[in-house]
Amino acid sequence: MQTKSNWSPGPGVRILDVTLHDEENWIVSAAAKPVGVCPECGVKSRHRHGWHKRCLQDLPVQGQAVKIQLALIRWQCKHPICPRRTFTDQLSKIALPYAHRTVRMADIVDLVGHRMGGRPAENLMNRLGMPISDDTILRQLKRNAPKPRRDDNIRVVGIDDWSWRQSSHYGTIIIDLERRSVIDILDDRSVESAKAWLQERPSIEVVSRDRCGLYAQGPPGRAHPRPGRWPIASIWFKTFEPRSRSR
Ligand SMILES: [Zn+2]
Repeated sequence: MQTKSNWSPGPGVRILDVTLHDEENWIVSAAAKPVGVCPECGVKSRHRHGWHKRCLQDLPVQGQAVKIQLALIRWQCKHPICPRRTFTDQLSKIALPYAHRTVRMADIVDLVGHRMGGRPAENLMNRLGMPISDDTILRQLKRNAPKPRRDDNIRVVGIDDWSWRQSSHYGTIIIDLERRSVIDILDDRSVESAKAWLQERPSIEVVSRDRCGLYAQGPPGRAHPRPGRWPIASIWFKTFEPRSRSR
């Protein structure tokens, strides 16, 4: 049997109770420590203003899901020169504001989601006692993805279509081939939107594209105010054609 400290989701909380609900889920009741520190002035406070409850999904125990019912205190700051009247316990090492999962479980979701994708990750996480939907996994991955680059140093890009929803909704993906990173994703798959995107970035010198398909119908560079600015190449096909021919 685990001791109470083994159930703690992280530092700064006290475990009050642990119960097994419906023979399936562990419910862990926890509370923050009975003193708050004002994030504005750094002065400690013991003047309670109210309560704030959060429910967090945590790592499983013995293959069964764990939910943390965490009671946080809203404190009053009595420091005479502090502009802040009230504040709530912030336990950033346990969970981010408004999150429904602990940081350590969110890390697992990131790891498995990146490796397996939405639906397979959902199946594995459910089997391991961390139930989560594929939509939630994908939302988290998108939220944590690096923001598209907007600087003026992009020189060589690759452009192709990609599927938002298979066989029904396609967009355009644009990659910085020198840095091997996704720069942007356009909502639709059209020469016009790709052309408009390229026209906003005059630093681009080379555009790599498929030899067939939509983008081959009219190279985006032709409609640029300075025709011939970008040598259009099919780098992808030049690289991979010999391998496909040898099959
Ligand atoms: Zn204060």
